[in-house]
Amino acid sequence: MTSSTALLEERPVLRERGQREVFCGLTGIIWLHRKIHDAFFLVVGSRTCAHLIQSAAGVMIFAEPRFATAIIDERDLAGLADANDELDAVVTQLLQRRPDVRLLFLVGSCPSEVIKLDLSRAAARLGRRFGPEVRVLNYSGSGIETTFTQGEDACLASMVPVMPATDASGLLVVGALADVVEDQFTRLFAAMGIGPVRFLPPRQARDLPAVGSGTRFLLAQPFLADTARALEERGAARIPAPFPLGVEGTTLWLQAAARAFGIGVSHVRAATDMAQERGRRAVARYRAELAGKRMFFFPDSQLEIPLARFVSRELSMNVIEAGTPYLHRQHLAEELALLPASVALSEGQDVERQLDRCRAARPDLIVCGLGLANPLEAEGLTTKWSIELLFTPVQGYDQAGDLAELFARPLVRRMRLAV
Ligand code: SF4
Repeated sequence: MTSSTALLEERPVLRERGQREVFCGLTGIIWLHRKIHDAFFLVVGSRTCAHLIQSAAGVMIFAEPRFATAIIDERDLAGLADANDELDAVVTQLLQRRPDVRLLFLVGSCPSEVIKLDLSRAAARLGRRFGPEVRVLNYSGSGIETTFTQGEDACLASMVPVMPATDASGLLVVGALADVVEDQFTRLFAAMGIGPVRFLPPRQARDLPAVGSGTRFLLAQPFLADTARALEERGAARIPAPFPLGVEGTTLWLQAAARAFGIGVSHVRAATDMAQERGRRAVARYRAELAGKRMFFFPDSQLEIPLARFVSRELSMNVIEAGTPYLHRQHLAEELALLPASVALSEGQDVERQLDRCRAARPDLIVCGLGLANPLEAEGLTTKWSIELLFTPVQGYDQAGDLAELFARPLVRRMRLAV
C-alpha cells in the first residue's frame, strides 16, 4: 500500500446514491471531433440526442460538422423496420458525401440500447465493407448511469484494441488535449530528453500510436478508467501522477514521467524553469481576487478533485466540498495526497441533499453542470459551468493563468452586476 493510498483510506468520503444532475457521454463528441481531425461521430439515437449535440455544439460550429445523428424512429422502436439496414444505408450515404473521413465512430445512445441494436456487430460489418480506407469503431455515449466525460473514456477505450503492437520503449500521453497544449508538452518532453512521445487520441486516424510492454502512459485526464485498463491489458504501465492542472500539477506530472524514464531532477528543472515562472506569474494575477473565497464543487466533469487541489494550493481558495461522480482511488491517489484535509469529499450524488448543503454554506463560487447553474444564479449564487473546463485549453504551464481566470471571471461579473 502506498502512503497516498493509506491517506485516502483514512480520509472520510461522503458516498451518495440518489438523483443525479449530469449530461450524458454524447457530450464528449463536441471536443473529440475537434481533436481527431478526420473522424466522424455518428450517433445512433433519438431526436433528443440530436438536440443535445446540436445545442451543446451550436455556438462552436464554423465548418461542416463531423458529427450527426442517425435517428431511430417509431418504426425502428416498434421493430417494424430493420434498423441495421437503415444504419448501413445512412453510413453509405455519409461516406460517399464525406470522402475525407478515415475513422467513423458509431456512437450508441439510450434508444439504441433500448432496442438492443448491436453496434459492435454493425461496426465490424461496416468496417469490412469500407475498410481499410475507413476504420469503423463503436462505443456507447448513453446517459444511463454515466457522466458526460465518460464518453471520452469509452471513445478512447474503443481505439485501444486496434492500436498497433510494439515492445519498444516510449511514452504515451492519454486524454484529449487541445492541439496547442499537446504541442507545448511535446516541446517540454523533448527538452527533458523523453521520447518518443505519442498521444491518444491522435490528430489523424492513421497516426494511432502503437502500444505494448515497453509503453508507459501518463493520463492527462482523470476520467479514463476504462482506457487505462484496456492499455494495461495490452501490456502498458501507467505512471502514477497528479494531473497537469496548474503549475504544481504540471510540474509533478512532468517529473513523474521523467522519473519513469530515468531522467534527473536537474534536467526537468532546466527544461521547465522558464515555463514554470511564466505560469506562476500568470496565476498570481488572480490570487489576490480569489484568495480566501469559498468554493463548492458539484459532481459533474470528474475534474473536481484536481481542480480543488489547484484552487486550494495555488489560489489559496477554501474548498468547502469537492463532489465527484466517481472517485477512482488509484488514479487520484497523488491528487488526494495533496488536497488539504479541510476539503470535504463526496462521491456520487443525491442532488437535493447536496443543494441543501450548498445553500447552507453560501459559497462564493459554485462549479456545477448547466442544469443547476441557472437556478442557483437565480438564488443569487455565483456559478461556473464545469463543462467549460473541457472546452477550454486548461492544462500545462501556459494555460495555468487561463484556468485561474475561468474561476475569477464569474466573481468579477457578479461584482459588476452588484455595483
Ligand atoms: S441521455 Fe440518452 S436519450 Fe438523452 S441525449 Fe443522452 S443518449 Fe440521448
